[in-house]
Formats: sequence, C-alpha cells, structure tokens
Amino acid sequence: MMTTVNMAMDSEQSREGEQPIDDLGRLVVLLVDDQMMVAEGIRRMLASEEDIEFHYCAEPKKAVAMALEIRPTVILQDLIMPDMDGYTLVNEYRAEPETQNIPVIVLSTKEDPKDKSKAFERGANDYLVKLPDRIELVARIRAHSRSYLAHQALRETQAKLEQSNAELKKLSCLDGLTGIANRRRLDEFLRLECLRSARDDTPMSLVLIDIDFFKPYNDHYGHLAGDECLRRVARGLDEAVQRASDLIARYGGEEFAVVLPNTDLNGAKRIASELCEKIRSLAIPHEYSQAADIVTISMGVVSRVACENLSPADLINLADAALYEAKESGRNRYIVAEEQG
Ligand code: GH3
Ligand code: MG
Ligand code: MG
Repeated sequence: MMTTVNMAMDSEQSREGEQPIDDLGRLVVLLVDDQMMVAEGIRRMLASEEDIEFHYCAEPKKAVAMALEIRPTVILQDLIMPDMDGYTLVNEYRAEPETQNIPVIVLSTKEDPKDKSKAFERGANDYLVKLPDRIELVARIRAHSRSYLAHQALRETQAKLEQSNAELKKLSCLDGLTGIANRRRLDEFLRLECLRSARDDTPMSLVLIDIDFFKPYNDHYGHLAGDECLRRVARGLDEAVQRASDLIARYGGEEFAVVLPNTDLNGAKRIASELCEKIRSLAIPHEYSQAADIVTISMGVVSRVACENLSPADLINLADAALYEAKESGRNRYIVAEEQG
C-alpha cells in the first residue's frame, strides 16, 4: 500500500518528461575484450553518456576480479580471446555470488542466428554483433542495467525482511523483562516434549517455581527493585539449568518453569535442589519474607512418561498442586507430585 501512495506522489511531483526510473543509480559497464580497437570504439560510443561509467579489461583471466572490484551493472563480453573462451567466463561470473546476477551482453563478430541462440543457452542475457550501433548499444546497456539494479534492490529488501522476520520470531519467544523464554515458547516446547516422551517412552520432568513472599518484596522495596529481583532470579535459574536440551521459561508474574526432557524423577529432584540452592546463594536480602531473610523459591516437581491420557496441561496441573503443597508446608523447598496408585 505504501508503495502505491509513494508512486502516486512521485508522478504528481515529477515534471513532465522526467522519468523517476533514471534515479536507480549508477550504470557501470565492464567490457572484457582482448582487442584494444574494439575497446576504443565502445569507449567513444559511451563517452557522451554522463550516467554511464566505462571500464575495460583486456585480460580475460582478470575479468572476475575486476568485476568484483568495480561492481558493473552490465558486462560486455567478447567470445573469442587468446587464453579463454568467453562462455567459460560467463560460467565464472555465474559461479560467484557477488557477480552471478550481473547481465552479460555477448559481443561477437558472428551474425548467424544459431550462434545467437547458443549464447543465450550458455547463460548470456543478450547478444550484439561487433561493432554495434551506438544508439542500440546505449539503449541495451540502460535496459539491462536498470533491470539488474531493480532486481538487486528487491533482493536486498527481501534479505532485510528475512532478517527482521528471524529477529521478530526470536523476540516473540522471549520474555521482555528477564530475557529468558516466555509462556508462548514454554507451551510450544512442552507440547513437543510431551509428544517425544510418549513416542520414545522416556520420562520427562517439569518443575514449577514460585518466588516466596514476592508481594511483600514489591510492596517494601518497590516495583523496580522487584523487576531487578525477577531478572536476577531468572539469570540464576538459567545458570543452574545446564543441559542444552532443558528449557527455563517465565511462566508469568513471579513464577518460572523448567522443562527437563529425558529426565526421570531422581534427575528432576537433583535439579530442584540445585535451583533452590542457587537462588539461596544469590543472597538477595528480603527482610519481609517469613521463610528466610533472603529471597527463596518454592517448587512443584512432576516426572512422568507422557501418553495420550497425560496432556501438557495435566503435567502443569500436577506440578502446580505440588507447588501449592510446598507453599503450605513452609516454602523454600520442593514437593514432588507422586504417582497415583
Ligand atoms: P507466596 O509466597 O505464597 O508465593 O506469595 P507471593 O507474595 O509471592 O505471591 P502473590 O501471588 O501474592 O504475589 C505475587 C506478586 O508478584 C504480586 C505482583 O505484584 C508481583 N509481580 C508479578 N509480576 C511482576 C513483575 O513483572 N514485576 C514485579 N516487580 N512484580 C511482579
Ligand atoms: Mg505466584
Ligand atoms: Mg510467590
């Protein structure tokens, strides 16, 4: 939509006879030909065209390097040269990411339509018989250069778009305050890990974590200090969870969750103890906690092999009930959701 508006404004503002397409940028011609006479002829043809920059390469072996340096918008390519066939050079331009899209106009002495057809088959974009008519040469240089520059701009925009999409995707999975995974990422991760656990018949564990007496922390130290406390706890938990396959996420408010794929109850208990210890070791003063004089956490731990009858929501409910028990029985500890029966 923006493009349409801009184009409309452009055409309104531009005076008659002016073509905005000419603003595409510099037109740079690279002629690769072993004959000085040809080069001189072409140079003269282009001399009066102010928007066209002319470069000449007499040695085909240096053509790719020169193209990389001067970034032509079109290459005029001789076919028969002493050390190298012109088509071999066309292949070399096409093999180099930086030069692969540059249009190549073949310059040949042959007028046979079969030669022309072959040139297109071998990757040339156009064909002119030497020495071409000046007006025709300039017109073709302009047309090919414009189309190249327009495509180049499109490719750049596309690359930028892909990059911002990747960044957006990453951001959409992260919690803004703490920088760890957010609830959305947690839900998706838990869903996939439950499927894997059921498929491979391996146990997985979930630990729900809640900061003890965080409301009084906020009330007494202020909301900003509360935010900083959340960041420090998140960092601490993240440091304590070592395996690359584990996920630590902010569940919401002052609650966090750790998903431990391929981990049985013993492993999960060990992690829960380490998490508890890690947060204690941060020694964040909390004068208004009834559990300790520093910030502590309570946890609910569940370990199961997932199956059709055990959804991610069931796992969360089990861990949540265990967390509630941990709160009830004094906080600053973890409680395990035991198997029924
Ligand atoms: P318990 O020991 O039973 O867990 O009690 P609690 O005070 O920790 O729990 P409660 O659920 O009563 O209070 C949670 C508090 O967490 C209340 C809310 O103001 C605070 N909180 C939630 N999200 C944020 C946040 O993003 N930043 C800050 N600073 N505080 C938050
Ligand atoms: Mg809470
Ligand atoms: Mg709490």
